[in-house]
Amino acid sequence: MPLDLLIRIYYICAANLTKKIMAIIITDECINCGACEPECPNNAIYEAAEEWKFSDGTALSGEIILPNGKALSADEDQEPLNDDVYYIIPDKCTECKGFHDEPQCAAVCPVDCCVPDEEHIESEEELLAKKAFMHRE
Ligand code: SF4
Ligand code: SF4
Repeated sequence: MPLDLLIRIYYICAANLTKKIMAIIITDECINCGACEPECPNNAIYEAAEEWKFSDGTALSGEIILPNGKALSADEDQEPLNDDVYYIIPDKCTECKGFHDEPQCAAVCPVDCCVPDEEHIESEEELLAKKAFMHRE
């Protein structure tokens, strides 16, 4: 079994044991079909090389402080995270918590390249708080 797959399985098991959940990341295997983008309830998915902002698809505007302490302008364009394939903004991804039972991007992706992101592990409570913050609930 390849080492990167073993590492991915380790992180998923560790997250499950500690009741932690991961954001989703799009791998380089993405074929840029665009199927995932309209399915995201948080507008967290962007096309390659496209700028993004927090106000897209959320109730946020003006200067904001995220639940994780980061301060920024919700209306300001931000640099794309990937110039080659679709990408997900970790600070906007809630694993679809509060909207759906499973990540919608992963559910529709034809090449299964929407996978757990071991760099961004959060609890269900943290993800629901992020969702409530973004949609001003
Ligand atoms: Fe959007 Fe849900 Fe995919 Fe996160 S898991 S990027 S919230 S569709
Ligand atoms: Fe890429 Fe999958 Fe999204 Fe299509 S559905 S753009 S292959 S991540």
